Amino acid sequence: MNTYKELLFDRSFVNGEWVNQGTARFEVKNPFDLSVIGEVHDEDRSFVAKAIDVAHAAFRMWKSKSAKERSAILLKWFDLIHQHKEELAQIMTLESGKPLGESRGEIDYGAAYIQWFAEEAKRNYGDVIPGFTADKRIITLKEPVGVVGAITPWNFPLAMITRKIAPALAVGCTVVVRPSEETPFTALAINYLADLAGFPKGVYNTVVGTDASEMGKELCENKKVAKISFTGSTAVGKILMTQSASTLKKMSLELGGNAPLIVFDDADVDLAVKGAIAGKFRFAGQTCVCVNRILVQEGIHDLFVKKFTDAVKKLKLGSGLDSEVNIGPLINQRAIRRMEDMTQDALAKGGSVVAGGNSLAPQFFEPTIVVNANESMEFAQNEIFGPIAPIFKFKTEQDAVRMANDTIYGLASYFYTNDLNRSWRVREQLEYGIVGINEGLISSEVVPFGGVKESGQGREGSKYGLDSYVDIKYVCIGNV
Ligand code: ADP
Repeated sequence: MNTYKELLFDRSFVNGEWVNQGTARFEVKNPFDLSVIGEVHDEDRSFVAKAIDVAHAAFRMWKSKSAKERSAILLKWFDLIHQHKEELAQIMTLESGKPLGESRGEIDYGAAYIQWFAEEAKRNYGDVIPGFTADKRIITLKEPVGVVGAITPWNFPLAMITRKIAPALAVGCTVVVRPSEETPFTALAINYLADLAGFPKGVYNTVVGTDASEMGKELCENKKVAKISFTGSTAVGKILMTQSASTLKKMSLELGGNAPLIVFDDADVDLAVKGAIAGKFRFAGQTCVCVNRILVQEGIHDLFVKKFTDAVKKLKLGSGLDSEVNIGPLINQRAIRRMEDMTQDALAKGGSVVAGGNSLAPQFFEPTIVVNANESMEFAQNEIFGPIAPIFKFKTEQDAVRMANDTIYGLASYFYTNDLNRSWRVREQLEYGIVGINEGLISSEVVPFGGVKESGQGREGSKYGLDSYVDIKYVCIGNV
């Protein structure tokens, strides 16, 4: 294959075919220059219901295959994604604005879940439990839950899909994926490659449309769906949970974050600056583990601000396709307005902008540092999801921990210290699902990713990642 255009598909993939129900279409735009990349057929709730029927019909067949057979298909899919890495990276950068290097990184990262779960599913072991009377024999089996509805966001157009459906498919579930309307092309391209890899018809379906709320309702309320796996905002996660109550679905929710990055006086300041740059500005700050608040102890504060500001001023804004660029455009105009409003709010409440602070046409926001940040400012409580780095000054370790935990969220947290005892104390007190100590890059298929508090429930990746897609069946054999 020579060009990414051969991997651009303009309609949903259901039951092994490209299908559309009506004639309505919507445009997918490149956030860099707002040019139209292509149009995609816009499906509705009734279409989702049909895809669920298809996935439900395919479930028994897929479940009855051996783990080894399913694993072989997953590994072929993994290979095909690698073979088409460049085309997929181009598509991802065009529709999300993510710098090409990050798109390539996401493809490696996202594909790694497929390989990992292709292996893990072969070890989906049950137990043998000593009987509770002499004539009883007891075993447990882990069985696939059924049809999985996966609702995914635009910020990781590939990895948020594979992280959910690789474990689901590996244990024998069938899936209906509803990707973000901002990034449908990556989602459709990987479904195409999965079809080439040999998934039987109906096992893996992708439904594309703009009416997220109606499509989501169908996935939540349809009795044939056993499980919802969602990555996105806490607000939408709550809607999905409420909607799913009527059918008591199993749920995995990867929701918003408000990650603190704490720099203690005893930290290696250069390492902390490096971690803050990577943790804050990856994909222009548009990930749920991106640093939201930088808390710096007073003794090291001015030095940190100086070094961090120097590093931020070197970041280059532009097209994600330009290999020199570190920061691409934001996903849409709503994001730009949010950055402008948060900056104004901080200025009005005593903050000072020491780098950036402006939006640039058509859809950029400069990497921005706000110093003198305080807890009354909007970004103290709300997810920024953009390239603003607020710096809060603190005095004591207790202050830092209190400030870090003062949020409804509990996904990722980071801190920098060279004091061994402090590293244990602080790690124990942080109310977060993920803690990076002297480290800003924490994502991998081998680790359990997930949050506490209102950042969600369930863990994706690692040996725990299969648990979300299996039910435990206990079998008692009596009168032996
Ligand atoms: P973000 O702000 O990152 O886009 P959202 O939670 O709004 O986060 O979106 C995440 C995914 O959920 C996207 O695919 C979006 O289209 C979808 N979505 C948004 N609102 C709903 C809803 N009410 N029901 C189901 N899916 C929704």
